[in-house]
Amino acid sequence: RAKSAGGNRFEFADAEADARAITRHGLTTALPAALERGEFFIEYQPLVHLGDGSVHGAEALVRWCHPQHGVLGPDRFIPLAEHTGLIVPLGRWVLEEAVRQARFWQTRHADGGPLRINVNLSPTQLHHPRLVADTVDVLERSGLEPRALCLEVTESALIGADEDLLKPLRHLAEMGVDIALDDFGTGYSNLANLRRLPVSVLKLDRSFTRSMQQQPADPVDVKIVEGIVALAHSLDLAVTVEGVETGAQAEQLRELGCDTAQGWYYARPGAPDRIHSLLLADAV
Ligand code: C2E
Ligand code: MG
Ligand code: MG
Ligand code: MG
Repeated sequence: RAKSAGGNRFEFADAEADARAITRHGLTTALPAALERGEFFIEYQPLVHLGDGSVHGAEALVRWCHPQHGVLGPDRFIPLAEHTGLIVPLGRWVLEEAVRQARFWQTRHADGGPLRINVNLSPTQLHHPRLVADTVDVLERSGLEPRALCLEVTESALIGADEDLLKPLRHLAEMGVDIALDDFGTGYSNLANLRRLPVSVLKLDRSFTRSMQQQPADPVDVKIVEGIVALAHSLDLAVTVEGVETGAQAEQLRELGCDTAQGWYYARPGAPDRIHSLLLADAV
């Protein structure tokens, strides 16, 4: 009996795995046409100064409006695009679109200072020989100054990176483009290693923000964040925190010396108009 029940469970698990594989397969094969047909779109989430809550910039987050499955988040299709290499043209499209949008906000809010745009890069894009050339090209065509662009790379993508991999990033950093280490604190990178990376921003992973939720916050995590902020600042890096959902978290992270923040407490990712109205609100 037990054996047959176990057998059924396995069959069930297999069927589920099959369904997932079919969806994965279906999504993977649909990706190129989706890009051609313009099924991808970008939501923007503001980054704010923790000091006064004013808008510092926005992160571009891609979504897929799938004709059958509805709106899919990046976790559903970025790994597939990464696997097939479609991430290269898709990533180029995101960069172009986000940079164009940022330039547009800047021209509409000339007094608002240099609004910045953050764009995520996946490992395949990092390895692509045209990364620097494409980025320069996109910036030149849009008229956006390099220092208004921040490219986000995950900590794990740079673990063990050799000089060949770092060279294009170094080149971009020398042009003035900011490089951020995304999801910082989840990888196992040697903190001393930070010195050799051409990064200017640490984006502290959401898991740290989450542990600021309890009152009082987990004292060990408080110490860790304190240490990261001190180290980052001593290396001239700015610290951004992800996933701020409550005012208490924002206050705690501000007290700990973090510079900028992003999260639902301020705004969910949304249409570009949202950033436009936030900038208008800042101006008054
Ligand atoms: P990420 O770069 O770490 O982006 C932050 C993620 O946290 C986003 O998820 C955002 O919607 C979510 N988030 C923001 N504030 C909060 C909050 O207060 N609470 C919670 N629970 N979540 C919050 P999203 O949009 O699903 O993106 C997931 C990941 O997909 C991104 O993580 C990034 O690694 C990747 N991604 C998104 N767009 C692109 C892209 O254009 N290219 C590449 N290569 N990767 C992308
Ligand atoms: Mg990011
Ligand atoms: Mg992140
Ligand atoms: Mg994250």
